[in-house]
Amino acid sequence: MNDCIFCKIIAGEIPSAVIWEDGDVFAFKDINPQSPVHFLVVPKKHISNLMETDEKDEALLGKLLNTAQRLASQLGCEDRGARFVINCKSDGAQTVDHLHVHVLGGRKLGWPPG
Ligand code: AMP
Repeated sequence: MNDCIFCKIIAGEIPSAVIWEDGDVFAFKDINPQSPVHFLVVPKKHISNLMETDEKDEALLGKLLNTAQRLASQLGCEDRGARFVINCKSDGAQTVDHLHVHVLGGRKLGWPPG
C-alpha cells in the first residue's frame, strides 16, 4: 500500500533495524521500545489489521507467531518468556494500519493493560 509506513520499511524505503526477513514476513526493532527486547513481526503482504484476515491467512498467521517466538528465543527470552501482542483497530490501540505482532521481553511486564 502506497502510504503505509510498514510497507515502506519492508521495501527499504524507510530505514529500520532489521532482525529477520524471508519471503513472507519481516521483523524489525520497534523505534520506541517499551522493554529491553521490543520488535515487530509483520507480513510482507499488506493486511491492515487482524480483523481483515480469514481462513486463507491461517498459514501466514501461524508463520507470524512462529517467527515471533523463534526470534524472541534467539534474543534471550526463551527461559523467562515474553509478551506477544496484536493491537487491532481503535479499541485495541492500533496506530499503524499494517498487521504486526509486538514482541516485548527482557523485563517483567504488568497485567492487565491499562
Ligand atoms: P501499534 O500501536 O500496535 O500500531 O504499534 C505501532 C508500533 O510501531 C509502535 O510501537 C511504534 O513505536 C512502532 N513504529 C512506528 N514507526 C516505526 C518505525 N519507523 N520503525 C519502527 N517502529 C515503528
